[in-house]
Amino acid sequence: MRSRIVGKVMLPVAALFILSFLVFRERAGIGVDETDAAVRGWETVYTEGIEQKPECLILTSDEDICEVYLDMVELVCTGMKVGYDIYRVNEGFDGSVLDDYDTAIVIFQDWTVFDDKLMLVFSWVKNGGRLLAAVTPEVDAHFNAVSAKFGIELTDGYPEIYGLKFKNGCMIGADEDDIFWYDRQQEEGIVSSLQVQLKNDCEVYVTSEDGAVPILWTNNYGAGRVAMINQAVTEKYQRGLINLAYSALYDAFVYPVINASAFYLDDFPSPIPNGNAEYIKRDYGVDVASFYTNIWWTKMLEWEQKYGIVHTGLIIENYSDEVEAPYEGNKATSRFLKFGNMLLNNGGELGFHGYNHMPLCLEGVDENKKYGEYRQWKSEQDMGAAIRELRAFSEELFPDNEFCVYVPPSNILSEEGRRILLETDPQIKVIASTFLRDAQGIAYEQEFVVEEDGVISTPRITSGCIIDDYQMLVALSELNFQFVQSHFTHPDDTMDEDRGAALGWKYMSDSLEQYLDWVYRSAPDIRNVTGSGMGRAVERYDRLTLAREYTDEGIRLKLGSFSGEASFLMRINNGTIERTSGCSFEHISGSMYLLTAVSDEVMIYIGGAR
Ligand SMILES: [Zn+2]
Repeated sequence: MRSRIVGKVMLPVAALFILSFLVFRERAGIGVDETDAAVRGWETVYTEGIEQKPECLILTSDEDICEVYLDMVELVCTGMKVGYDIYRVNEGFDGSVLDDYDTAIVIFQDWTVFDDKLMLVFSWVKNGGRLLAAVTPEVDAHFNAVSAKFGIELTDGYPEIYGLKFKNGCMIGADEDDIFWYDRQQEEGIVSSLQVQLKNDCEVYVTSEDGAVPILWTNNYGAGRVAMINQAVTEKYQRGLINLAYSALYDAFVYPVINASAFYLDDFPSPIPNGNAEYIKRDYGVDVASFYTNIWWTKMLEWEQKYGIVHTGLIIENYSDEVEAPYEGNKATSRFLKFGNMLLNNGGELGFHGYNHMPLCLEGVDENKKYGEYRQWKSEQDMGAAIRELRAFSEELFPDNEFCVYVPPSNILSEEGRRILLETDPQIKVIASTFLRDAQGIAYEQEFVVEEDGVISTPRITSGCIIDDYQMLVALSELNFQFVQSHFTHPDDTMDEDRGAALGWKYMSDSLEQYLDWVYRSAPDIRNVTGSGMGRAVERYDRLTLAREYTDEGIRLKLGSFSGEASFLMRINNGTIERTSGCSFEHISGSMYLLTAVSDEVMIYIGGAR
C-alpha cells in the first residue's frame, strides 16, 4: 500500500521535472567568501536587529521528500521572517514540544511516525495551535483517524490535475475564473492530489482547474486551525502555495516583501548582433539596424510610457570570440551613445553584460560549463583584462552612470568566474542571473538574497516575449510571496527561432504586452526599479528582522535592521484593516493589502472579524 501511494506522489515530481526542463533549471549553489561585505553594499544605515522568536516548528521525518520540502519551507519561513525550529518526528515524538510554538508544519506523508502521539497534535490544535500539512498525507489508519479534523468527509483516489484556480481573491494576479495551467502542451495531468470531499464550512483557497479537487484549504478545529496543501510541493512556483497556506492559518497575516519590478534588456546597447534577419525582412522589409531603431526600440519606449517601466540595459562591447589579451575593443561608439543616452534620460540604468558574450568560465577549470559555441577564457589574467576593458569603455561613454550591476552572458557564471569578476571589479554590487534552472543544468541559479560576501543576488524570474504556462505560475508565486517581478529580454529575440522569431515581432510584442498588462493590472503600485534599485530593495528586505505580536486589536510589529523603508503584504482572511500607525496601507485586490512602514513600530488595527 505504502509503495503504491509513494509511487503516485513521486510521479508528479518526475512530471514536473520534465516539464521544468523546458525552462531554466539547475541550482548552481555558488558561494564565495573572499571579498569584504562592507566594501560591497551601499552606505545604508540600519537600526539594530531583533532576534526572531521561533514561532513555528517544522516537523520532518526520514522520507526522501522531506529533504526537498525542508529547503522550500525554510526558505519561505525565512522570507516571511517567521522564526522556526526543526523537529525529527521519526526519532520519537513528544507532543508537549508543540506547546512552545504557535504553528507547526508537517512536511512528510507517512503519519504513522506520530505513533500513539498523533492525538496530542490535535489536542494542541484544539487549544489554539495552527497546523499546516504541507503535502498530501498517505491514506492509512493513522491519517484516517484524523482526516475529519481537516474537514475531509471522503477520499477517492488520485485524479490528474492540469492547473490551478485561486478562490476569493486570495492571490494577487489571479481572478476568480483564471486558470493557471501547469503546461498546456502536456497531455497528461499531474497525479499527486487526493480527491477529497470536504464538509461545507472548510475555507477552500485553491482548486484544480475544473474546480473538482480541493488543493488548499483550512478548517477550524476547536480554538485552532488546520490547513492542507493537497499536492506534492517540489518546485519554485509552489512557494507561493506554502506562503498562502501558512498565512491562511491566521485571520490576518503580515509579511515583509521586496516590492520591486525590474526589466532588463540584455545585449543592449551592443553592436548589431548576428542572427537570422529573415523574419524582420519578411514582416517589415527593413534591415536589422533600422528595425531596432524604428520598431523594436519604439515599442520599448511605448511600454516605458504606458507602464512606468524603467529599463536596465546591459552592455556588450563587441561580439568577438577573443578570450586572450590584448583585446581589440570597439571604436564604433555611436550606437552605444544613441541608445544608452536615451535609456539613461528616461530614468534607466546601464550595467555590464560582457566585453563580449563569452561567459566568465576558465579554460581547463570550468569544462562542465561549456555551452554552444562559447569559448572559455585562457587565464585568470585574460578574464580580468576583459572585465577592466569593459569598465573603461563603458565609463568613457557614460561617465554619469554608476556601473554596479552585472548580468552573466546566457546566465552562465562559474564559481571561478564570479571570484575573478568581484576581485577585478570591486564596484560590482549586484549580480542578476536567473531564478529558474536551465535544461543543461549550467545556469547560475539565484535567490533574492544578500550573499555571504555582501554581493546582492537579484535573479530574473521570467524571460523573452512569450511567457509560457510554467513561467506564469512562477511569476504569480513570486508576486504573492515576495511581491517581486523581474523580467529580461533581448533585442535579438526577433532573430532567434528558439525564442519565437518565426512568429514575427507583432505576435511576440503582443504576447509580452499581455504579460505586462497582467503585472500592472495585478500590482499597479509595485515599485518600478532599475537593476541597482532591485539590489537595494533586496538588501533592505533580506536584512530586515521583526517581531510579531497578535493582540485583541490587531497585529503589532517591531522592526529590526530597519533602513527607514520596508514594504509588507497583508492577507486578511477574516475582518478588515480599520486603521494603522507607523505604516500606510492600500488595498491591492481581494484579501491582499500593501503596507509601507514609516516607523520601526507598526500597529495594524483589525476589526469586523466574523
Ligand atoms: Zn546576452
